[in-house]
Amino acid sequence: MLEALKEQPADKILALMGAYRADPRDDKIDLGVGVYKDPTGNTPVMRAVKEAERRIWSSQETKAYTGLAGEPAFADAMIGLVLGDAVPRDRVAAVATPGGTGAIRQALELIRLAAPSATVWLSNPTWPNHPSIIKYLGMPSAEYRYFDEATGGVDFDGMLADLRGVAAGDVVLLHGCCHNPTGANLTADQWQQTIAAVRAAGAVPLIDIAYQGFGDGLGADATGTRAVAGAMEECLIAASCSKNFGIYRERTGLLMAVARDAAQAKVAQGTLAFLNRQNYSFPPDHGARVVTEILTDADLRADWESELEEVRNTMLGLRQALADELRRLTNSDRFDFIARHRGMFSRLGLTPEQVEVLRKDHGVYMVGDSRINIAGLNQDTVPVLAKAIAEVASA
Ligand code: PMP
Repeated sequence: MLEALKEQPADKILALMGAYRADPRDDKIDLGVGVYKDPTGNTPVMRAVKEAERRIWSSQETKAYTGLAGEPAFADAMIGLVLGDAVPRDRVAAVATPGGTGAIRQALELIRLAAPSATVWLSNPTWPNHPSIIKYLGMPSAEYRYFDEATGGVDFDGMLADLRGVAAGDVVLLHGCCHNPTGANLTADQWQQTIAAVRAAGAVPLIDIAYQGFGDGLGADATGTRAVAGAMEECLIAASCSKNFGIYRERTGLLMAVARDAAQAKVAQGTLAFLNRQNYSFPPDHGARVVTEILTDADLRADWESELEEVRNTMLGLRQALADELRRLTNSDRFDFIARHRGMFSRLGLTPEQVEVLRKDHGVYMVGDSRINIAGLNQDTVPVLAKAIAEVASA
């Protein structure tokens, strides 16, 4: 049997990590994988997470199974964090999943079950795992324009024009905030227009929100998601706790299905639990418990929010510093978009050849589409990177 297997293509970002590790230069700069790093290059365990873990360690009496949907308290806390009071709680079905990826996978499985011929529309570009999972599941997909290479902003006219081609019953996948890989995001007004377009098409939005709190703040980053949930009869929302709680390896996420009424939410809840059962039975619990502890304890929550603000402001400071330095070195506003982008990533708009020169000649590692992880920088490496980019871009 196993002889029938073929080599799988290597994940480009993981391959990049390997190449970085093997590079002997000590002034090399890693802007690849999407993990937050503090100015010393570490990905720390957040203070509130450590304290929540300490409390769980000292009070937990059993490791017996929880519910198939995970702990209801986790769902309640996360629904509050993501949706606020945008929709009545009884219209929301939710299951804990292994990370945001698990939530996206389960959302797609739900779509395949309910609407097997629905086309899933993806932004061009998007996080590569989106098309990869969709292809693996054998689901039809299409792309809508999203990024304007010339300005580094959203090609919103192109996006709206493409959304006019969406058929009734199709699914439109939207990034809730901090678009990966571009860093370019919709304004509140553009969210409203997007909602109008998706409604006019009779389509269902699927929101991937993996960086809440990394852009403009916890509430601001949920604006689009809340507007969608409040305006649409139905939508699906896949939320990840990996980044904003810094619990990447604990695999913590939540899939929400907003239904048109409580009766349909109940059926959706049963279906989501069924899908968990088929794929991995009970979802992981530790990270979900940590998140619940933090979100439901006033002191822990305040501490988490303040540390998350530090993380967010560190990235904003690096964005501004990089944009300023590039403006000085190139004597142009070409890279000003870096300061306007939000989240961990910016797509610089360099060619694959320029990205390769940066790696070979400057020891700067970024994804081939010229996506950089802003958090891979610090105040010392910003001028080094800016100089390298300016050199390569003018060659
Ligand atoms: N969506 C997007 C856009 C992401 O960038 C990520 C993480 N790279 C995820 C979802 C899921 O992350 P995780 O499965 O680690 O929670």
